[in-house]
Amino acid sequence: MRKLVVFTGAGISAESGIKTFRDSDGLWEEYNIMDVATPEAWTKSPELVLEFYNKRKAQVKGAMPNLAHNLVAELEDNFEVRVITQNIDDLHERAGSTDVLHLHGIVTQARSSVDENLIYDVGFNAINLGDKCELGFQLRPHIVWFGEDVPNMNRAYELVSDADILIIIGTSLNVHPAAGLINDAPTKSKKYLIDPNEIRVPDTDNLIMIKEKATTGMQQLVKLLN
Ligand code: NAD
Repeated sequence: MRKLVVFTGAGISAESGIKTFRDSDGLWEEYNIMDVATPEAWTKSPELVLEFYNKRKAQVKGAMPNLAHNLVAELEDNFEVRVITQNIDDLHERAGSTDVLHLHGIVTQARSSVDENLIYDVGFNAINLGDKCELGFQLRPHIVWFGEDVPNMNRAYELVSDADILIIIGTSLNVHPAAGLINDAPTKSKKYLIDPNEIRVPDTDNLIMIKEKATTGMQQLVKLLN
């Protein structure tokens, strides 16, 4: 089977009602990103950080996968599919994708604030001050904050550099290092980018832009792939 990598950003979940980072009415708007999504914020005011992520968690819980997530999952019938997502929601998993790499973590997990290897499934339960890991240290969201390393980045590069087909959906390609992934796909691989807005992409061979929302774009792409 041909190897197909799907790389997604916040845009694929927009039609599920989860706002993108840059939407003007997004949840991010209520907060200054540096106050809630950095290690410095965690040191300064963990309550605010937990409040922010507990709200995000509640929002994700109330959302459902949309047709784009579903069509990505169905690609597994015909391709060896790996999903790499920048999203912290679990909508790919709930749509049925079986191989999902989260670059920036996921809201349904918590981790120890001192040992990054101690990770716990907490589902949609809130994380509160006083919730501790087995070593007795405060739990934090299992999220990669701005300024932190992205531990799954090497695996993502490996997957993309071995792809026959790369599909990119709903990412402004602004958040690094993830945004650089497109450059690692083999020159001969087919690349598709679905986004309703103009995305600035580095010079890339074999790239087809589908300027549509994720659900419409994925329906068009499935026809192209068939
Ligand atoms: P971004 O907000 O920078 O870009 C979103 C992209 O989605 C834009 O290019 C926009 O044009 C596009 N878009 C908007 N509506 C769309 C639709 N209906 N269909 C397809 N595309 C659409 O998001 P990013 O590039 O993913 O980076 C932001 C960071 O914020 C990520 O690292 C991610 O971790 C985090 N984030 C996650 C979620 C989530 O988990 N759902 C939501 C917001 C932000």
